[in-house]
Amino acid sequence: MDLTENVQFLKGVGPARARRLARLGVLTVEDLLYFFPRDYQDRRRISPIGSLRDGDFASVRGEVMAKGSRKTRGGKKLFQLVVDDGSGRIPCSWFNQEYLDNVFRPGQEALFVGKVQLYNTLQLVNPEYEILDPQSEAMRRAGRIIPIYPLTEGLYQKAVRDLIERTLELYLPHLPDPLPEDLCRRWEVASLSQAIRDIHYPSGGEALAAARQRLILDEFFTLQLALGLKREKRAREVESLPHLPLTLLRDRYIAELPFRLTGAQRRAVEEIKADMVGKGAMNRLLQGDVGSGKTVVAVCALLTTVDSGYQGAIMAPTEILAAQHYENISRELEPLGVKTVLLTSGVKGKKRQEILEKIASGEIGVVAGTHALIQEKVDFSRLGMVVIDEQHKFGVRQRADLRKKGEQPHVLVMTATPIPRTLTLTVYGDLDFSVLDEMPPGREKVKTYWIGPDRLDAAYGFIRQEVAAGRQAFIIYPLIEESETLDLKAASAMFDHLKRNVFPAIPVDLIHGRLPSEEKRGVMERFRAKQTMILVSTVVVEIGIDIPDATVMLIENAERFGLAQLHQLRGRVGRSRFPSYCILQGNPRTEDAARRLKAIQDIDDGFQIAREDLEIRGPGEFFGTQQTGLPELRIGSIVADVRLMEFARRQAFSLLETAPALAGDELAPLRRRLRLRYGESFDLGDVG
Ligand code: ADP
Ligand code: MG
Repeated sequence: MDLTENVQFLKGVGPARARRLARLGVLTVEDLLYFFPRDYQDRRRISPIGSLRDGDFASVRGEVMAKGSRKTRGGKKLFQLVVDDGSGRIPCSWFNQEYLDNVFRPGQEALFVGKVQLYNTLQLVNPEYEILDPQSEAMRRAGRIIPIYPLTEGLYQKAVRDLIERTLELYLPHLPDPLPEDLCRRWEVASLSQAIRDIHYPSGGEALAAARQRLILDEFFTLQLALGLKREKRAREVESLPHLPLTLLRDRYIAELPFRLTGAQRRAVEEIKADMVGKGAMNRLLQGDVGSGKTVVAVCALLTTVDSGYQGAIMAPTEILAAQHYENISRELEPLGVKTVLLTSGVKGKKRQEILEKIASGEIGVVAGTHALIQEKVDFSRLGMVVIDEQHKFGVRQRADLRKKGEQPHVLVMTATPIPRTLTLTVYGDLDFSVLDEMPPGREKVKTYWIGPDRLDAAYGFIRQEVAAGRQAFIIYPLIEESETLDLKAASAMFDHLKRNVFPAIPVDLIHGRLPSEEKRGVMERFRAKQTMILVSTVVVEIGIDIPDATVMLIENAERFGLAQLHQLRGRVGRSRFPSYCILQGNPRTEDAARRLKAIQDIDDGFQIAREDLEIRGPGEFFGTQQTGLPELRIGSIVADVRLMEFARRQAFSLLETAPALAGDELAPLRRRLRLRYGESFDLGDVG
């Protein structure tokens, strides 16, 4: 029995039906077994016809008595039959389905499921039906819970039911179970064939829940195994660049910081060093909420590589952030004798050539840059460490591209998207993981207010006060230019207005994505140097920007922003000991938008924000498939079924510990499943 066989060759499926099934993602026999119902119809309770009442949704079973067709006054064709079950009689009516006249014969036993309606007399209107010919498969479906499948044009419920039921009969008895028997026994779950049968035709709620659980566990377990295998494969194949345990530059840098590292930072710095000194190439995720101080940890990692005579690179998703990293790094590292450069697509011509040469010759110790670092050919002399800041703004592909650059540089990816730990381990399943779960001392919660447009003047007044006290402010708008279709204030139009009419005595500046790179840098430098006190901006400052004296973040049309975005924007303030404020001016028109504004006002913790965001947007949109590179799950949800995911992960890793290559006959079905489902996407070439 070949489960990979094309459905087209099943009885009753020709090319046309196969094409329709393909539209539903069903190509093979196995797909068909895994084509799960979207809902169920409970036909266990057959109602006596004599007891039916108007409005009931009922199943009745009886003998077809009389039948006939006629035209209604509205011109529709009406087919009717009368069914009798001994307790009473009821007509069933269908419109424009004259062919039914050929389907039913008086004397047949049949089941009808539908809504009871009163038109002169009680009747069943457009009911679903099964003729209970003792020889037919339908007979077995009478009095059971019946699956309702997702459909597509030209594909009918009955046909899909028949096809799947036949396929279950034919293939289930020979379906290999990827889970070894002793696992099934220990987990107290049914066999795969039992679970698949039950999910299509459950005998009741409990059986359905058990089937779902087994199938989810199965799916998660194999996913986690694939992740584990991928990790081990890389550890085996990838030789790292050996690093020395000496960290002189790094230690000097830490000693000269104007603050002490937090405990979490120290831990992360040491975990990174241990990886770099060890055998395999580091592949580590550093997660920490906005403002938790990830940059310092990154610089320590970069210096650790320079300490061993290698070069380091830090990559940011925006030019502004890359430039900020460069300013910091050059200021802090040049005194230590480490040469640094900035490389973005904005650096052009002769200057670019010069920089590229210095990188290639090994003269440069640390490069800060944007995608330009991977998109174009940049030759490093000996690249030892790559830091990817704000990883969630890059795709997985880019992460892989970068890794190919040097021989096998160590990689540290950083993200402020604080998702629950198990999710992290799954979405970034092949990475090790450090977390900054501690904020630098003295930080106060950013006070967050949601105001209506009428309070805007008061907000401006408040900004004036803060500026008078020596603090700075951001004012954010959703768009750059006034749009004709959307009633939004655009940053540039508002900038003119604010400068002229609202803050005539205060230096105000404007930044947005369409400014040339040099100008962007100039604007940010002036703001950092406090030559400018108010910065009007689009979302280009959403991530990473660090202006410690900024204490007010005013976001206009805040309903236009996503929750994660609002949290990031708010993270631009509250980066010092001064009390900070986030003011959201918003007029939400949808329920989701209102929920976002409410959430950001009430919740301060990034983890909780992420959870709320997940709930509002759903995991698909939250992670974005492109970002995660995860294969699609057939039944489990990495959010709703997080407990099962945790369990599956522990089980998978403990199996890999005892059977690293999953060798042996008993595990053959499991190997086969892994190869079929994850072989390609996870590059598990050698799983037999
Ligand atoms: P993020 O994690 O959002 O990237 P940053 O690395 O930009 O955060 O750090 C935020 C601010 O906190 C910076 O101004 C940085 O200098 C400061 N900072 C980082 N670590 C500490 C610390 N241990 N004590 C005090 N301030 C710190
Ligand atoms: Mg940062």
